[in-house]
Amino acid sequence: MQQALRNLIGVDSGIALLTVLVASSAVAVFALRRWRDLDGEIADRMAAESRLRTLALRDELTGLGNRRALQIELDRALARCEREGLAAAVLFIDLDRFKGINDGHGHEAGDGVLQTAAARLGGLVRSDEFIARLGGDEFAVVVVFARGDKAAPEMVARRLLTATSAPFKVGCSDVYLGLSIGIAIAPEDATERDALVRRADLALYRAKRSGGGEFRYFEESMDLVVLERSAIERDLRTAIALGQIVPHFQPLVDLKSGHIIGFEALARWHHPTRGPIAPDKFISVAEATGQIGALTRSMMRQACCHANDWPLDIKLCVNLSPVEFRDPWLAESILAVLVETGFAPQRLEVEVTESALVHDLCVAHRILMSLRNQKIRIALDDFGVGYSSLKHLSALPFDRIKIDRSFVANLGKTAEADKIVTAIVQLAESLNMATTGEGVETIDTAKRLEALGCGVGQGWLFGSALPPEAALRLVQQKRTSQPLNRPDWRQQMRQSPLLQLAHRVAGR
Ligand code: C2E
Ligand code: CA
Ligand code: CA
Repeated sequence: MQQALRNLIGVDSGIALLTVLVASSAVAVFALRRWRDLDGEIADRMAAESRLRTLALRDELTGLGNRRALQIELDRALARCEREGLAAAVLFIDLDRFKGINDGHGHEAGDGVLQTAAARLGGLVRSDEFIARLGGDEFAVVVVFARGDKAAPEMVARRLLTATSAPFKVGCSDVYLGLSIGIAIAPEDATERDALVRRADLALYRAKRSGGGEFRYFEESMDLVVLERSAIERDLRTAIALGQIVPHFQPLVDLKSGHIIGFEALARWHHPTRGPIAPDKFISVAEATGQIGALTRSMMRQACCHANDWPLDIKLCVNLSPVEFRDPWLAESILAVLVETGFAPQRLEVEVTESALVHDLCVAHRILMSLRNQKIRIALDDFGVGYSSLKHLSALPFDRIKIDRSFVANLGKTAEADKIVTAIVQLAESLNMATTGEGVETIDTAKRLEALGCGVGQGWLFGSALPPEAALRLVQQKRTSQPLNRPDWRQQMRQSPLLQLAHRVAGR
């Protein structure tokens, strides 16, 4: 009985052992499988993450690196420079005249041009260099080179400039674009990524401003430009409110008779501590910071008050900024100033440039028609540069075309200038509009303008912008002086008390 019991236990423990063995190997197999699966899952996840990282660093449209990729690459390049005693350049690149393609041919055409430009630029970048698209038509390249090797970034820039030498296909036409490049170098311009990028951007801005198609290195003075701009921004509001920005008046002269027929009011700001600031500097700041309306109203109010003292046949011209045409109440605010100052609308002429018309032609048309209905005259300023569109000329109620001084100054010097001025004068005549030639600096230019049929001249020959008292003296003088009649007005002009006074007052 006992033996039978022992046998029984032995069999049982064998089975139990077997069960344990089978179970544990099953667990091992399962664990192994699970581990293998997990390994695969981790690899998949890592691959997906890496794909995502690549996508997050890639510009979708062009396949180049994006802004984030540039940051990473620049950090890497700067660390390497420090470690190995090298230099790094960042080149900011912008396509010239690209906006015209987007505006004129639509965004799809613009995208096509960007892809072609990216492919061309990418093809010119070597394997140890890096290129990214920052958005819009802006690209950047990073280059690491031996410290002191000044020619290295320049060679890259020259190579990149060739990318736009061939035309771009837009629809069925060939379009030529240029390239502007701004270069900043570490460690001399900056050792920190954001500062370096900002300086390359400033250099690019400079390259663009001087007409494009070139590269510029960052210079310390460019930082000063930005500082100056922010100082202007800070002081402008008070300057307008305190009436520190005042009108000076540049004479407009009838080219046949030599008589002054009016003045253009030009804004002058004499800053109490920083001295005179040119309108080209503060008007763009006023436009960008929403203060241009207040500036125009202040200028007009003062100019109308001064012009109220002039003889009634002397007109006043004032400039309107294109930005103001976004204000649908522009005409009403101008009329309000006339009512306030008691200045006759018939004596006022407003000068607008074509860029005022492109934002919304309908709104511009309505504003100009309202002014016209009140007998205010309208002049198209700086004609010949920019759009020079026949559509604008025929669609809008202009009384006068002001021929840009770049053509007037070249009269008699280049055949093109003579042809362009002739064409503009004839065009104006056929549309029943008067003409003014800007930037008349010599008697020869005045003669040529008059011979071409241009009615009015404006420029340093007749006087630069005068303070209000000097302008008043000039028109009072006019009352007592002889008119400068044809045919010998040009000779008389040299001795004319009118002009002598203007030149004396202007200090020229
Ligand atoms: P603009 O309307 O074309 O004004 C004529 C500019 O040509 C003035 O420059 C004037 O001083 C300059 N100029 C006049 N005669 C000659 C000449 O014989 N030769 C040369 N080379 N230049 C001459 P300024 O006063 O520096 O004004 C520059 C621009 O600033 C003006 O160009 C106008 O667009 C803008 N501006 C001036 N005052 C105002 C203003 O009150 N409001 C607005 N919105 N813009 C203004
Ligand atoms: Ca003007
Ligand atoms: Ca002008």
